[in-house]
Order: sequence, then structure tokens, then C-alpha cells
Amino acid sequence: MGDRLENPQTHERYSRQILFSGIGKEGQHRLSESRALLVGCGALGSAHAEALARAGVGKLRIVDRDFVEASNLQRQTMFTEQYAAERTPKAIAAANHIRELNSEIEVEPEITDVNHSNIERLINDCDVVLDGTDNFATRYLINDACVKHEKNWIYGAAVGSYGVTMTIRPHQTPCLRCVFEEAPPAASAPTCDTAGVIMPIISVVAAVQVSEALKLLTGDVAALHGSLMQFDIWRNEWRKINPGPPAPDCPTCTLGKFQTLEAAAGDFAAVMCGRNAVQLSPAQPTQVDFKSLADRLRGSGEVKFNDYLLRFSAGEFELTVFQDGRSIIRGTDEMTTARSLYAKYIGN
Ligand SMILES: [Zn+2]
Repeated sequence: MGDRLENPQTHERYSRQILFSGIGKEGQHRLSESRALLVGCGALGSAHAEALARAGVGKLRIVDRDFVEASNLQRQTMFTEQYAAERTPKAIAAANHIRELNSEIEVEPEITDVNHSNIERLINDCDVVLDGTDNFATRYLINDACVKHEKNWIYGAAVGSYGVTMTIRPHQTPCLRCVFEEAPPAASAPTCDTAGVIMPIISVVAAVQVSEALKLLTGDVAALHGSLMQFDIWRNEWRKINPGPPAPDCPTCTLGKFQTLEAAAGDFAAVMCGRNAVQLSPAQPTQVDFKSLADRLRGSGEVKFNDYLLRFSAGEFELTVFQDGRSIIRGTDEMTTARSLYAKYIGN
């Protein structure tokens, strides 16, 4: 890639960024040699993906468990009406879009639920991790894995018109657990599905996260903002809070206990907050044969499938099954109902 920058067309593509003194030719070369992991490709993840692809970060690994829906289009800039109509997995839709806007970089889409069984593999060869998730459970998981493996990661969240971000350099800065010892109790905090969200706060948070990623990848650690940044773009509040040093009793970065990485084996279920849906993953990943499953289900309801997922509607319930057996069951937020539907239609 060093030589690629000598290529006039490649040089032209990044010329304005190379002119910028914070990056320069050396910084551009470093970006081209880097791999970023984007955990989640919703609104924040879309903004991360687009900005890092255009900036010429050499490899983007995009991990998302969900598919595109109409309600995403107001703020998730990787997606179009056609992807929503086809319910394309977000990781695939994002990868397609990125290939159109920068064919010189590599995109590695993964349709999966990020959990204790795969997070260490996903971060292992990455230079920076960007948080585009919508829940604290996954953020603590990212935090544990990144502290354990000394990977820099950039926390970000947005709901309503409020957003927050912090850059975590393990053992150099406080980690997420130093700052937020516990997640807010379930259902106590507003979410994008209950309180809504407007696109400009996504742009603000993502802009800070992406800038921090560029600083980290080009090695300009002195330029990092070093704070917990909070914004409310409707109430016009911008705050920069000094988080101090790592907490002396932090279980994660001081005591080295990585609780979320040691979760017991077994099936994994999560209520998808505010969506009237439950996600279930089988204890052992499997390879689902969509065609034969579709044949089995056809008598019980409406079935459609493509290369990535199968959708089955029966009465008020809708089941979406991914290739590894993971399913999103819509029409209930009851774990037991979801489990029984899974057992009834998909089997164990
Ligand atoms: Zn800590």
C-alpha cells in the first residue's frame, strides 16, 4: 500500500487528507495498513463505516446481528429502501455500499451476535474497536476483551438528542467499568426504541469517535480528547468531563477480572429492548439448511428465505432464522414464549 500511495489516482483520492498536517503521507500510509472493528452497524456504525472507508482505513470488519428495516432509514446511512424491502442483513448491506464508495479497501462483513464466544477472535487482529452497539451488555463485553488484549476502543451512545463518548486505552485511561461500575437497570434507561433518536446526535457522536480512531491509527495519542464527552444538541449542552485515572478497585482494568468473557456455555437469549422481540442462539452453532427448513414450515405459515436468513410468519409471531441457528422472534418479549416457539418451529 506504501507503493499504492505513489499511484497518482490513489494519491489524488486521499490528497486533501494528506495535506492535513495531523495525517500527512505517513499517517495515510498507517491508515491503509490498519484494520478497524465496527461492532454494530446501526446508526453509529453506518457513520463509522462510511467515514473510515472514505478515509482509506485498509480493512474494515463490520459485525452486526440484525437486518435492515424501514425504521432504520431515517438515520442509518448505509441503507436504502431496497435493503429494507429485502431485509438484507446490515453487515452485508454495509459491505456492498462500502465497496461502491471505496473499492481499494477490504471489507469483512460478519452476520453474528457478538458474545463471549467470539469477541476475542473478532478483536484479535484489529488495531482499534468502535462501539456502534445499543446496549451495555455488549459494551462491557467489548471492554473486558479490549482491556484483556490491550486494544484501544471508543465507546459511543446516542438516544433522543443526547450522546456520549469516551476513548479507552487500557491501563492508560479509565475503562468503561471504571466510569460506569454497573449498567443502568434494564428498562430504566431510555432507548432509541422507546425515546426515539434524531440523526444529528448520531453525526456528532460518530464524528468524535471517528476522529479519535484516526488519531489512534496514525499514532497521534497526544491529540485524543481524554475525557467523557456528553452532548445534547436539542438543549444545546456540550460537556467535557475529566474521568481521572483508572479506578484503583476497578474489577476489569485494575484487578484483571473479565467476568463477561467467562459466561457459562448454553443457549443465549436476550430480550431486544423496546422491539417486542427476543433473540435466541443455540447452545452449539449449527448450519441451518434454509431450503429443508422452509419445506418443513410451509404448512404452518408463510416462509421466505434468501442466502442469509429465513423468515417465517405464523399468526402474530414472526421468526427470523440466520444461518448459524440464531433467531429473532418477534411478537413477544417473553423469554418462555420465545423459547417454546423456537422449539416448536425450529427445533433444538
Ligand atoms: Zn477500569
